[in-house]
Amino acid sequence: MIDNYRHKGLRKKLVEELREKGIKDEAVLAAINTVPRHFFLDAVFTKQAYSNMAFQIGAGQTISHPYTVAFQSQLLEIKKGDKILEIGTGSGFQTAILAEMGAKVFSIERQRELYLKTNRIIPKLGYNPKLKYGDGYKGWPSFAPFDKMIVTCGAPFIPPALIEQLKVGGRLVIPLGEGKEQEMMLIIKTGPETYDEKKLGVFSFVPMLKETAK
Ligand code: SAH
Repeated sequence: MIDNYRHKGLRKKLVEELREKGIKDEAVLAAINTVPRHFFLDAVFTKQAYSNMAFQIGAGQTISHPYTVAFQSQLLEIKKGDKILEIGTGSGFQTAILAEMGAKVFSIERQRELYLKTNRIIPKLGYNPKLKYGDGYKGWPSFAPFDKMIVTCGAPFIPPALIEQLKVGGRLVIPLGEGKEQEMMLIIKTGPETYDEKKLGVFSFVPMLKETAK
């Protein structure tokens, strides 16, 4: 895997584009400037890896747009050492961004093919998140509670296990809705049984599905 001056130049341009679109968190922008997105895509997409586009990553799934990755990451208000649970590892690009920002990352993927592929790529980049093949609706009880959570697939409802496994004061960013479009929600847990929610605009994700696939 080669990361040359051309790729680095394209990343710089992408960062400027994200800044113009309203991303302000410098730590998020620095991570996007650092992580080679083309490593997470099939070679046929290398040339377009730094345009603000989604691509097929196998098993009928897509890597999120860089803007979406930046937007969700910004909403998490990540601090070094935060324990973050991600649902929908997919290509692993979002996972790498969180790890690059100094978070302790736990990520779950229900497509075995993608889990295996990402499990090979991520350590090559020097990150060591904990990856799991499983059902994100259940969260990851043995590592709970988490400071933050990010769901990268469209959820029909807020999975109760996720709220349970979130610390009080913790943040959950989740695209909510069935069908083609979802509303980006920021959930802040205010007490053991209570939370506030904010709606932050319409996005388009692949659906969050039940149980694991082969
Ligand atoms: N963050 C990823 C997004 C991939 S698309 C990236 O940028 O590459 C969303 C992913 O969520 C898909 O890989 C899909 O298989 C996965 N997914 C869907 N339902 C899930 C569930 N119940 N548990 C865990 N992962 C799920």
